Amino acid sequence: MSYPSPLEELVRRVNQTREQRLKQNFPRLSAEEKQALLEQFHPDYRTDTFTTIQVGPNAGDRTPRELASLIEGESPLTNAALNLDHFDYETDVLVIGGGGAGCAAAITADDHGARVIIATKLRLGDANTMMAQGGIQAADKENDSPAIHYLDVVGGGHFTNIPELVEALVTDAPEAIQWLENLGVIFDKNPDGSMKTIHGGGTSRRRMHTCRDYTGAEIMRTLRDEVKSRPGITVLEFCPAVELLTTPEGDAAGAILLNLNLNRYLRIKAKTVVIATGGSGRLHYQGFPTSNHYGATGDGLVLAYRAGAKLAFIDTMQYHPTGVAFPQQIVGQLVTEKVRSLGAQLVNRNGNQFIFPLETRDVVASAIIRECRQDRGVRTPAGIDGVWLDTPMIEILKGPGTVKRELPAMVRQFARFGIELDKEPILVYPTLHYQNGGVAIDAMCHTSVRYLLVAGEASGGVHGRNRLMGNSLLDVIVFGRRAGNEGARLALQRNDTFTPTLEHLTRWRQLLKEKKIVPESVSPILLPDYTRKPAGMESGKAGTEV
Ligand SMILES: Cc1cc2nc3c(=O)[nH]c(=O)nc-3n(C[C@H](O)[C@H](O)[C@H](O)COP(=O)(O)OP(=O)(O)OC[C@H]3O[C@@H](n4cnc5c(N)ncnc54)[C@H](O)[C@@H]3O)c2cc1C
Repeated sequence: MSYPSPLEELVRRVNQTREQRLKQNFPRLSAEEKQALLEQFHPDYRTDTFTTIQVGPNAGDRTPRELASLIEGESPLTNAALNLDHFDYETDVLVIGGGGAGCAAAITADDHGARVIIATKLRLGDANTMMAQGGIQAADKENDSPAIHYLDVVGGGHFTNIPELVEALVTDAPEAIQWLENLGVIFDKNPDGSMKTIHGGGTSRRRMHTCRDYTGAEIMRTLRDEVKSRPGITVLEFCPAVELLTTPEGDAAGAILLNLNLNRYLRIKAKTVVIATGGSGRLHYQGFPTSNHYGATGDGLVLAYRAGAKLAFIDTMQYHPTGVAFPQQIVGQLVTEKVRSLGAQLVNRNGNQFIFPLETRDVVASAIIRECRQDRGVRTPAGIDGVWLDTPMIEILKGPGTVKRELPAMVRQFARFGIELDKEPILVYPTLHYQNGGVAIDAMCHTSVRYLLVAGEASGGVHGRNRLMGNSLLDVIVFGRRAGNEGARLALQRNDTFTPTLEHLTRWRQLLKEKKIVPESVSPILLPDYTRKPAGMESGKAGTEV
């Protein structure tokens, strides 16, 4: 036994009730019960942690305080005007962000003959895409169809999704899987060579395509190799975008990057710009831990908003029900939904199952928070609350060896701390996982700013107020490819007589002044700040003028 003694007794309770739970068919909640649970326990409903945006296209909308402070923040380009008479690079398509959506866009724009630059914050592939575990959805089996997939997506999103975006997602899905396989992604297969598919929460068909429990790493490996092997794509690593460039008419015209190695700004003139900067888990809304990579600080939303683009669904975040609650070293890291797809049940401190394990994520997360608030959770020695995820149940339901075969990465992760997933349950609590909202787009990834496109987690509307498992990896491929396609098409039509400026910043500062808003932060923040600062130390200033 690898748990400290106060938890050992509770593990025994889980073991004792397993036999009885095996026979139990836990009922799903009705629509009314789900809504009541969400309103009482889901973090999106904690009104005290939200505020109202005061300037820009979303003035009057509600969003978490942490995000509002960045959206209404000050640009780092504070001192003398940058010299924009000449540029460090000129290109057709500038892709900002080197995760799944950015790479899919870059590859597709290159296929269409555009000159492409992909600028990313850290290394290419340091991204949430790399961390995705469970799988990618696509209706490509005989008993399934894009129409059934559509119904699942909008049901999962509580019927708030933008219909044209869902239509694009589900109709492109089978081709997206084919595209990935052709590039070299090794999906799990049945002995007859057909695709292995499993269920996810809220799905009515088995349509989750997997690469064991490291689907994202396998997809990212393939996309990164493809990008790096193409002479038409220039990759700028450790070069985050800190501001967009716009024409006096307000069209996108490029970006200012910060070269982190040289601490020097780079000026890029581009005919079209694709923002693919991913999510914002590292903003730790409401103090939640996160499953996200370090670069997930919502930069794309800040850049797009200051340039005039409208945002959508920015009052809703996804808290994945099963983040690690013990051991302390990996708190917040993801325990993929695939664990519940394989049969693991959620169990409280009394050894009782309390929710159907494959309800949608927001509902399961709310049920876990309820158990903990109502004293049926388990408190770890570090004071962190959680409930049990009964992983040994998988071995009983699916046969000995299943856990090691289907969840090899997670088995290794927990083995480092002496926990054997196939023999002992694990402790979990919701973790900040996904940004449901983002920049508003149409089905071809256009935003309200001309020549500015957005794809992947940085966009909002595809998933409405709740995303189903496997639909984000799909989203980044479908909309990444659409953005690459459209970005190249628009770029090849645009002549290059336009003038990139920072005039939108002047307008932005004027707006802040009129509303008497004193920015609380310099944004985008690029990386989370976990350090304690000595008194008097200034933060937020970076880069030298060029
Ligand atoms: C642990 C985990 C597991 C997941 N599992 C699944 C799953 O099984 N199935 C599923 O469908 N989804 C899953 N998701 C969600 C999914 O992986 C992501 O939503 C999706 O991969 C996001 O892709 P993206 O390209 O939009 O963003 P990312 O992959 O995060 O890429 C964004 C890139 O932009 C860069 N960037 C950020 N700011 C800037 C800037 N200012 N300038 C330049 N570059 C910048 C980042 O460094 C990063 O490289 C999971 C997410 C996590 C965190």
